[in-house]
Amino acid sequence: MRVLLTNDDGVGSPGLRALAEVFAADCDTAVVAPEHERSATGHAITLHKPLRARPVTTYPAGVTAWATNGTPADCVILGVLELLHQRPDVVVSGINVGANLGRDLTYSGTVSGAMEAAILGIPGIAVSVASFEDVRFEVAAGFVRELVRRMAERTLPGDTLLNVNVPNLPAASLRGVAITRQSARRYLSSLERRTDPRGLTYYWLAGRREPMPDVEGTDARAVADGFISVTPVHLNMTDDRLLQELRSWNLTVPR
Ligand code: MN
Repeated sequence: MRVLLTNDDGVGSPGLRALAEVFAADCDTAVVAPEHERSATGHAITLHKPLRARPVTTYPAGVTAWATNGTPADCVILGVLELLHQRPDVVVSGINVGANLGRDLTYSGTVSGAMEAAILGIPGIAVSVASFEDVRFEVAAGFVRELVRRMAERTLPGDTLLNVNVPNLPAASLRGVAITRQSARRYLSSLERRTDPRGLTYYWLAGRREPMPDVEGTDARAVADGFISVTPVHLNMTDDRLLQELRSWNLTVPR
C-alpha cells in the first residue's frame, strides 16, 4: 500500500514522525509537509509565488520525505502530481497537536490536507490529538494504521474524507470508537490591541472556547467522553433544506 503523509504542524513535528514510523513498517511511505508550521491556514494554496520542495533525510529508513514552502493542500498536490512516483492509495494528514472539532474544520490545515486528497480522488484521513500539552501520539498512530488497513478492503466514496480526533489518554483509558457528526463547537474570537515600539497599533487575534454543552453524537462530545471520534466529511457544502426554501423565494433577474 502507498501512503502519503502530510500535516500542518511542519515536517519536524513529532506527530508526523509517529505516523511515518507506524506506516514505514509495511507501507510504501512518503512524507510531503510544510517546512514550518502552517496551522490554521485552512485550504489555502499557493498561486502567486514559486513552490519549492527539498528532500529531508531525518525520517526513518524507507520513508521518502520532502519539506516544502507550501501549505498542507499544496503539499498534497505536489506529492500526488509531481514528487511521488506512483499515486498514493491514501493520504493521512497529522497527527495534529490539538483537536480539530466543530468549526475548527473550516480553519484547519490538517483537515485541508485530507480534503485536498478527496478533491484529487484519493481517500483522505485527518487525525488530531485533543491536547496541546504532553501529547501522546502512539494511540492515534496505531488507530489510523488500523483504519487504513480497513480502508484497503472497502474504500471511501468519492468526495469524502474522515476526520479523526483522539483524546489524549492512554489506550487503556479510552472508552471506544464513536462515529460522529461535526459539532458546532467554536472559539469566540477576540482581538488584543497593542502598541508596537514605533507607536503604531497592532492586533493579536486570539480566542477561547465558547462555553456550550456538547451535543450527543457529535465529535466534541465523543472526545469529551473519552472516545476516539471518527467523522465522515463531505466536500459538497450545499444545504439541501435551504436550497428548497430559496427556490420558493422566486428570485428574478433585475431588468
Ligand atoms: Mn496544527
